[in-house]
Amino acid sequence: MDLSNFAEDVAYKSLPVLGVILLALALERLRPAERQWPSSAAFNMVYTFIYAIGFAALQLATAALTVSAVNAAGGGLIPLAERGWLLPPSFLLYLLTLDLLEYLFHRAQHRYAWLWAMHSLHHSDPAMNASTTERHFWLEPGLKLVTIYLLAGLLFKTPPVILGMYALLGFYNIVPHMNLRLGFGRCWFLLNSPQYHRIHHSARPEHYNCNYAALFPFWDRIFGTHRIPQPDEYPPTGLGPDETPNHFAEALLWPLRRLWRRRAKQGQSVG
Ligand SMILES: [Zn+2]
Ligand SMILES: [Zn+2]
Repeated sequence: MDLSNFAEDVAYKSLPVLGVILLALALERLRPAERQWPSSAAFNMVYTFIYAIGFAALQLATAALTVSAVNAAGGGLIPLAERGWLLPPSFLLYLLTLDLLEYLFHRAQHRYAWLWAMHSLHHSDPAMNASTTERHFWLEPGLKLVTIYLLAGLLFKTPPVILGMYALLGFYNIVPHMNLRLGFGRCWFLLNSPQYHRIHHSARPEHYNCNYAALFPFWDRIFGTHRIPQPDEYPPTGLGPDETPNHFAEALLWPLRRLWRRRAKQGQSVG
């Protein structure tokens, strides 16, 4: 493995995201949903960098497998246009398909205990804000690469320009995580908003298992998993004080935390 390429990949994955998150954290101050400065922001910023290292390593490990599977299947069923008038509809088709796959993967993350064991790290933030966006368990991008992205690769022969446009649009994912009083009112189903996604992260049991959409909430509307935000509805977020990592090692071993905590307690009582 070429270490300088790897470091470049990590920087490429983390620095622009960290920059946009910082900008979003400043913008949140204009109209915050929760007044106080998010206690988790510093932790999340450092974790975002650690996560980028894990993401780059996993991509390295799974890329060969994914590419050879796609090539073995003939390199994608539907060729997407890379220029001309067919480019916009090609991009729209790719975007809608990927967003539907993201929606289904996210539902599975809440449905199956072993996936929730990882995804719960994202929900453990006691004060959701822009920096929560990349707070995911390090194994999850690898799982997505060999499921939904593999499927997209088998379905489409995707030119780099579409992959680039999709990656750029990925920055929008920071917006719904912002600690911001912003919803889209009657147009809630058109685009994910800070209010719509706050309900997905809500600490209140009546809000559990709804609003899974990544970009387009109409998937929730179609599959009946939507909860339309009330005009002034900005609930607190998180899973409770015992369900949040106390340090980075705990976040990196998140699905095993109960085991880890029991061992730490035993160590304390012995010492
Ligand atoms: Zn979720
Ligand atoms: Zn989220």
